[in-house]
Amino acid sequence: LPAAGPLHVAMLATPGMGHLIPLAELARRLASRYGATATLLTFASTASTTQRAFLASLPPGITSLRLPPVDLSDLPRSATIETRMRPPASWPSSPTSSARTDAARAAGVGRTYLFNPTNLHMLSLLLRLPELDATVPGEFRDLAEPVRLPGCVPIPGSDILSPLQDKGDPCYRWMLHHAARCREADAILVNSFDAVEPEAAAVLHRQQEPGRPPVYNVGPLILTETETKSSLRAACLEWLDRQPPRSVVFVSFGSGGALRTEQMRQLALGLELSGQRFLWVVRSPSDEGAVSDNYYDAESKEDPLVFLPEGFVERTKDVGFLVSSWAPQIEVLAHEATGGFLTHCGWNSTLESLVHGVPMVAWPLYAEQHQNAVMLAEGIGAAIRVPEPKRKETIAGAVKELMAGEQKGAAVRATVAELQKAALEGVGEGGAATTALAEVVDKWAT
Ligand code: UDP
Repeated sequence: LPAAGPLHVAMLATPGMGHLIPLAELARRLASRYGATATLLTFASTASTTQRAFLASLPPGITSLRLPPVDLSDLPRSATIETRMRPPASWPSSPTSSARTDAARAAGVGRTYLFNPTNLHMLSLLLRLPELDATVPGEFRDLAEPVRLPGCVPIPGSDILSPLQDKGDPCYRWMLHHAARCREADAILVNSFDAVEPEAAAVLHRQQEPGRPPVYNVGPLILTETETKSSLRAACLEWLDRQPPRSVVFVSFGSGGALRTEQMRQLALGLELSGQRFLWVVRSPSDEGAVSDNYYDAESKEDPLVFLPEGFVERTKDVGFLVSSWAPQIEVLAHEATGGFLTHCGWNSTLESLVHGVPMVAWPLYAEQHQNAVMLAEGIGAAIRVPEPKRKETIAGAVKELMAGEQKGAAVRATVAELQKAALEGVGEGGAATTALAEVVDKWAT
């Protein structure tokens, strides 16, 4: 980070496209506003075709470098990503230290900045985790009372971040370790904006706490350049062109979300029962866990349509459109026919929905998605959560309420319209996110 001359930023991306995309957007913003160049460092063990294609599509000033492979042969196949993220042995650090600050140290960089690709609720949890570890007996999911964090919507224990749900799993210890080290960063950049979690923002930006780095909301950073530059417009967009404005609910569970077989059936029947038009990115179900193999690669291994209830495709052919595995999500959300989004509440999907003014039905699956659902549905009111147990009736009820409801649905739709305005203002000239980033860059220059 030279005081004079062009700014160069090195960014270590934790695995998963959902982390890489907002970091690349941050790099793009630094390039366009400040003439910066950037190197994105990625982990060799999780490089996928999708990731490689994405990195290759970035402008010339944003390059990437794959870290040397790390021997993970001592870990069981079931080891989670938190456990698999290890620094290469050649780095001058103990094997247990935190990859990102060690990467910076190894590269001789004096200051390190942490980029949180999710939100302030998640950051609040990480900052308090050592304290919660010391005070919460047993598992989070067994708590009688919700977890109360400063400025945050109370989170029921069972909705807390999924890697923290089993204290016996090594990934719990790793999360705790990384969480404690968050405080070592010189500053923390977050891909959120104040209007979506105003009280958490008030606590984290305006109140300085000794020992906690300053926090900057620099979002929403969402993909601006889409890959569908080819003249071949996706068939689902052509279908949307023929639907009335705001009449379609888009159904998608992110890059890696998979439903159980029975849940997938109930969803199909629920969509049919709702009587609403829908565009559904169908992926093969998984009865083992909510994260499918395609977290790193977007292709379903089998034809997902064979798992749908008998006769469903025929019965819904006039109101529904099915896409296997992957859809151009941003273009779908930006389309005027899209009026709702049934989502797994991945943070990128959430931001993309808000930026395009699309209200949500929340169906969280894993990672911090349950917390996001709590904050969106019970906090700011930008989503309606599908009540448990998820049956066709409850699913249809939530979808109908979102699309056409005159009370709760109308309130959610109005809130999202306000949030869209705030999100767009924030990233514009003189907006909060633009100013926050300018403050960070100012620090680099000193
Ligand atoms: N996405 C997409 N098409 C799909 C599914 C996902 O373009 O069919 C994109 C979506 O726009 C978002 C990202 O993949 O940018 C998913 O990120 P998110 O944080 O929502 O969820 P994750 O995949 O990390 O669970």
